[in-house]
Amino acid sequence: KLKKRSISAMPTIKIDDVEYDVEAGQNLIQAAASVGITIPHYCYHPGLSVSGNCRMCLVEQKGPRGTMATIACNTFVNDGMEFLVDNDNVKKMRQGVMEFLLLNHPIDCPICDQAGECGLQDYYMDYGLYTNRSTVPKVHKAKAVDVGPLVKLDQERCILCSRCVRFCDEITGTNELVITQRGEKSRIETFPGRELDNPYSANVVDICPVGALTSKDFRFKKRVWFLSTTQSICTGCAKGCNTYLDFEQGTTYRYRPRFNAEVNEWWMCDEGRLSYKALHQDRLDIAMQKGAELSLAKAVAAGADLIQRTMQDHGKNAVLAVASSTASLEDNFMLKHLMLQALGSEAVYSHNYDHIGEADAFLRMADKTPNTAGLQLLNISTDKEALESALANPEIKLVISLDADSDALRQQLKNTPVIYLGVHQTALALSADVTLPITAHAEHDACYVNAEQRLQKVNQAYFPTTEARPAWKLISGLFAPLLTAPPLYDDVEDVWSLMNTKVDALSALTFYEIPEGGRSLIPVSEPEAETPSEAEEAVNS
Ligand code: SF4
Repeated sequence: KLKKRSISAMPTIKIDDVEYDVEAGQNLIQAAASVGITIPHYCYHPGLSVSGNCRMCLVEQKGPRGTMATIACNTFVNDGMEFLVDNDNVKKMRQGVMEFLLLNHPIDCPICDQAGECGLQDYYMDYGLYTNRSTVPKVHKAKAVDVGPLVKLDQERCILCSRCVRFCDEITGTNELVITQRGEKSRIETFPGRELDNPYSANVVDICPVGALTSKDFRFKKRVWFLSTTQSICTGCAKGCNTYLDFEQGTTYRYRPRFNAEVNEWWMCDEGRLSYKALHQDRLDIAMQKGAELSLAKAVAAGADLIQRTMQDHGKNAVLAVASSTASLEDNFMLKHLMLQALGSEAVYSHNYDHIGEADAFLRMADKTPNTAGLQLLNISTDKEALESALANPEIKLVISLDADSDALRQQLKNTPVIYLGVHQTALALSADVTLPITAHAEHDACYVNAEQRLQKVNQAYFPTTEARPAWKLISGLFAPLLTAPPLYDDVEDVWSLMNTKVDALSALTFYEIPEGGRSLIPVSEPEAETPSEAEEAVNS
């Protein structure tokens, strides 16, 4: 008869003779990570079912029949359990597993795109370091197999952990991948006539612990040890999936999903993943006056002069501002705040209705902009008709557009002078009276509010390689001559001290206090996420 075991809320376990209180319901890999102990693993992934095939997480468990080997991924902690995870036996088991996994591996690290972030390299140095005993030729398998639009497969490098197969079965439900054949002939393949083509396909590259699945977009572009990483968010839609942004010298090379249980868990969509390319395409890199280049300072002065003259000639109601859900919370706030402060005008509308695309029930949202909820938080109208009727008012003699452009908008602005602040060289940027280049999300510290009312921040990865500056800074320059004592806004924290006093939902926050996982603005107390330990981050990545 099986003895019924009680499940303790906070079980006490022993790891290497030290007692720890850990959370119930975790497996040993998670529980150990929560107390800062790393247990190596390949096939286990916290977002997928347990498969237990790689055996890399073998540890010893003490029990009534003595000490026995067990896999940590499929051992769920309970009160009184005792484990040995770092003794000679465990080290020998890990070394044996490494030797087995590498038996037929081509060891082609110098030409492998995964080099520098490969689980095989890392664990070989930590637990392998054996002398090769094999005397038979390696089994060769197919290389650089085109499995889908975004992914290449090198079958020889695969350790058959099945993470990619489980991802397609359990997360996307598209079932494109399968392990075929037996023994040393086993390999990953797509089902006959199928290719790995679903909106989330490139996640298999992130979760493949070795260099078997690589991204066609990133392959051979950059050795990973040249890259620096900053924590950011994807601005490709209103979901705001958390990302790592990998960059070198003013160039972003890729986004990778960053774990956030409240937003995207471990995943991101392919469309968002590739949206980093927009950071470098058609960038507006110079300031202009009627299409002619001039210095940024002179362009700001020309814009300020235009606002002043319009005010003098036609009064405060002659200026209208168009905010944008592609711009940050700080940029939109400053536009609205200074329209009121300097001109006494509340004529701030927004333009976000032409960025509509495909959505699904997982992560992708139809609103392809990151900050519509931010506009709503600032009480800026997101109503298309409200903007169109405001623009139709013949009293409007000047429009300030914050990164807002479309055919319809240009049609309405045909005979109206425009000051345009934007990231890209759009048609409106080229035809505006004054054009000011602004920073994109990789180049500034700023916040965005996602569709689930979560305030999330991006950290500046690098300085802009052009004249671009944060829009809130340029906007304060445009309105400065109209203020009796123009305040100096130098740092994003200056904007935040102002926002604290004007936006109730942000009153108790400072920019640098916003957690990297963001904070919900829905007034229900959400338990504060603890900063994950290094070992926990390793499990989640
Ligand atoms: Fe695992 Fe990568 Fe092989 Fe898929 S391709 S089974 S993720 S090693």
